[in-house]
Amino acid sequence: MITFGPVSSRRLGKSLGINNIISPKVCSYGCIYCQVGETVKKSIKRETFFQPELIDKKVEQHLKQLNRDNFPDYLTFVSNGEPTLDKNLRTAIKLLKKQGIPVAVITNASLMMLESVREDLFLADWVSIKIDAGDNKTWQVINRPCPDLDFEGILTGIGIFSKEFGGILCTETMLVDGINDSVENVSNISEFIKKINPHKAYLSIPIRPPTFKSVKPPVAEVVTRAWQIFNNKHIKTELLTGFEGTDTGYTGNIYEDILNITAVHPLREDSMMELLLKNNADFQVVDSLIKQRLIKKVLYNNNKYYLREYHLHI
Ligand code: SF4
Repeated sequence: MITFGPVSSRRLGKSLGINNIISPKVCSYGCIYCQVGETVKKSIKRETFFQPELIDKKVEQHLKQLNRDNFPDYLTFVSNGEPTLDKNLRTAIKLLKKQGIPVAVITNASLMMLESVREDLFLADWVSIKIDAGDNKTWQVINRPCPDLDFEGILTGIGIFSKEFGGILCTETMLVDGINDSVENVSNISEFIKKINPHKAYLSIPIRPPTFKSVKPPVAEVVTRAWQIFNNKHIKTELLTGFEGTDTGYTGNIYEDILNITAVHPLREDSMMELLLKNNADFQVVDSLIKQRLIKKVLYNNNKYYLREYHLHI
């Protein structure tokens, strides 16, 4: 299936998914946490999958079937593999833009050293790039790249892209327990991300069945620590832990407000107290959410934080 959705996402609102890579999965990476299974064909060769005209036609047909109130905010390339392996990506984006809906691409950024890939992505309105490692060794372990790829070359390509791209650039970092979640790993990753100055950096965790069963999300304390490391570098950072909380999240309902905010970032106890006070509520609300296992209290740097409690969907 070339199109699917629309699906709701905090990052993109309503997004109509486009899979421009033919099954079985073709990707330049074989990430240990991949949710679409083991990479069948690991490649960095750009090739033709679907004709761009077919992609455009399928999107048009899909849009015609949707009610006005279910119309997508974005047409999003989120593929069964790596979307920039499609050498007709530029033409596909050009055609799709005629639909009058912004185009987003979620890429692993592994082909960013190629000028042709950067130029294709310049046409998109929103691009998310994967940055799971700040050093070659960790990159090999977590992303299991095609042997022809060069870590430094990718970072250079991302750097060039970030300077020239006129749209919204975001990063996504998947934190995996014991693989890339140490202070050193997260500091290296954040150091690089700070340089490219994204609109937002997202920290995600593997909550759906990964390719390797041994892959686990870090504990809440470690996720909080990672968020703090990013935050201390003044990087606008949000958590993606499977909850669709809103950024500001003030609904007037204290329960919902706490759930919305803690889905996006850890809430320090003094901010929690302020929020309760503003809503004429007391600490029983927090106790009740902890009892229901909807939020969790974690300690970091002698401060108490509250965070949405996440569970594995196995
Ligand atoms: S880059 Fe994406 S599709 Fe490719 S292996 Fe990693 S998670 Fe899976």
